[in-house]
Amino acid sequence: MEKEKKKSKYNEWQTVGFMLRTAWEIREKKVIFIMLSLVALNVGQNLVGIFITPGILAALERRASLGELCLTILGFVGVTMLLQGLSTYTSRNWQFGRFTVRTAILGKIVHKCGTTAYQNLLVKDFDKKAKAAKRATEYNQEPTEGIWDTLQGLLQNMAGFTVYCVLLSGAQPLLIAVIFVTAVTGWWINRWLNGWLQRHRDEAIAHEIRTGYLSNDIRKNELAKDIRIFGLRPWLAELWREAIGACVAFKRREEGAYLWGKVVNLLLVLLQNGVAYAYLIGMVLRDGLSASEFLLYFSVVGGFSGWVRGILNNANTLHKQSIILSEVMEVLEYPEPFRFEDGDPLPPAGEKGYEIRMEKVSFTYPDADVPVLKDVDLILRPGEKLAVVGRNGAGKTTLVLLLCGFLDPTEGRVLLNGVDIRTLDRRAYYGCISAVFQNFQILALSVAANIAQSDTDIDMDRVRRAAEMAGLTEKIESLPQGFDTLLNREVYEEAVMFSGGETQRLMMARALYKPAELLVLDEPTAALDPLAEAKVYAKYNEMSRGKTSVYISHRLASTRFCDRVIYLADGRVAETGTHEELVAAGGGYAELFEIQSRYYREGGETHEEN
Ligand code: ADP
Repeated sequence: MEKEKKKSKYNEWQTVGFMLRTAWEIREKKVIFIMLSLVALNVGQNLVGIFITPGILAALERRASLGELCLTILGFVGVTMLLQGLSTYTSRNWQFGRFTVRTAILGKIVHKCGTTAYQNLLVKDFDKKAKAAKRATEYNQEPTEGIWDTLQGLLQNMAGFTVYCVLLSGAQPLLIAVIFVTAVTGWWINRWLNGWLQRHRDEAIAHEIRTGYLSNDIRKNELAKDIRIFGLRPWLAELWREAIGACVAFKRREEGAYLWGKVVNLLLVLLQNGVAYAYLIGMVLRDGLSASEFLLYFSVVGGFSGWVRGILNNANTLHKQSIILSEVMEVLEYPEPFRFEDGDPLPPAGEKGYEIRMEKVSFTYPDADVPVLKDVDLILRPGEKLAVVGRNGAGKTTLVLLLCGFLDPTEGRVLLNGVDIRTLDRRAYYGCISAVFQNFQILALSVAANIAQSDTDIDMDRVRRAAEMAGLTEKIESLPQGFDTLLNREVYEEAVMFSGGETQRLMMARALYKPAELLVLDEPTAALDPLAEAKVYAKYNEMSRGKTSVYISHRLASTRFCDRVIYLADGRVAETGTHEELVAAGGGYAELFEIQSRYYREGGETHEEN
């Protein structure tokens, strides 16, 4: 299997910078200050910890009075309790700020995904990163929150390391070198051990599947008859023995690796302690080191490797978290191919309205090699009713997505009254368009709000007219609260459910409610029964009055009421004309129409070939 290892765009410094900036910007600076306080408190606690016993021992050595001894013990205990209390209190408070930072990042990601150019949503790279970014904000252990623990740990270990270096500064450099080398080696061994199972994961899973199949699936009653009738038992028993043998051999290897790792680790600790003991005993003999000083040095030597391992562990975690945070940053900064607020306002509509023109338009989907549309020239005149037909996959929907400005042509231009829509404010352009697409979503709101696509500013007269045109009035009148009836059962228990056909009509009403110049209907009758479909055709003139409309359908009969039909084939406009003209021309359109007519005449016995 080919594994692609791509380098992250942003390194650890940049991702940490991003987190600090975000906390700062959303006024959660306390997250940073609390982190630093915790570092100081915890290192302080550790220092008090290593000084307690040597401190008391030193008091005993100088034969301090009972009062002084009690005072020393109380002092140490008091400071430890104070630091511990402060640390617990501070880390509790930390949670709120960290949570706010994480949810703010989630908010930014959701905003980006909701406002980004439609075209970005089709790019695999964007999709993958957006998913990773959302996952990174789901729980508090995820990098957008967990990184604070890592940073705190890293700073704490670095601070501890520095303080211990100072404490050991009187010692021989050789001692420090031995401790350092044994700590780093120990860390590497642990890392290698933890990775052993990960590296042999495929093998482990294969064993699990095999033994699982043989011990569970094969015992199912369905197989009982086969085992008896075909005499499978000895064969299965042999398979089972083999599987268990392989499994045990694998476990032995795993345990062997762990065992050797543990032995090496133990030897390292022995080496480290042996060198420390030898060195410190030498100091006792040579320089008359006191018992308390011996104890203190020994604690420092033991703790030193803890800091070193801590630094390496935290750096490793930070590296992993940083890779994910880099994806979060990349999503947020993903380039926007469309112009929105910074685009030009729409050109004046003129007396007749807008003319939309496709000029030598070719389009290849992101991550695809073959163009879906090639060199398409098309003029959509104001008020014209255009039908776009063709077999499945001919590129009808793609053509409409280009007309609507959801995609930009790979080559060529889409012009609104002669102006390239790439220069325009894309949201203003969307303002001229109303549509029924093939995939739709009902909002968890009332019927009226679904038609008006607003919960506050609803023109009820227009809502009624749109519902009437879409053939939905009868259905709505039968509902308990009419237009105020709630939709979407997943959210409201009392909501009603619309059938597929009714939902499609609701979408049609919604498209008709919006006072837009261009009406796009992509297979708007796909979920309707033939009677309802015929009604839509009959009302089509009324629906599209005063608007330019594009009607996509794979049902060729639906094109009769359109001014012009374009037949798409092989990514090109293969034929253009009225329905009658195209039938008379005897080309691809005529052939498809003939097949469909036969299908309907014969009651669906012949398969529709598109
Ligand atoms: P139609 O509407 O005529 O059925 P479409 O415009 O939906 O055709 O699709 C035209 C071609 O583009 C099809 O071959 C389809 O597989 C391909 N296509 C559609 N959407 C995508 C996409 N997001 N990524 C890659 N290819 C796509």
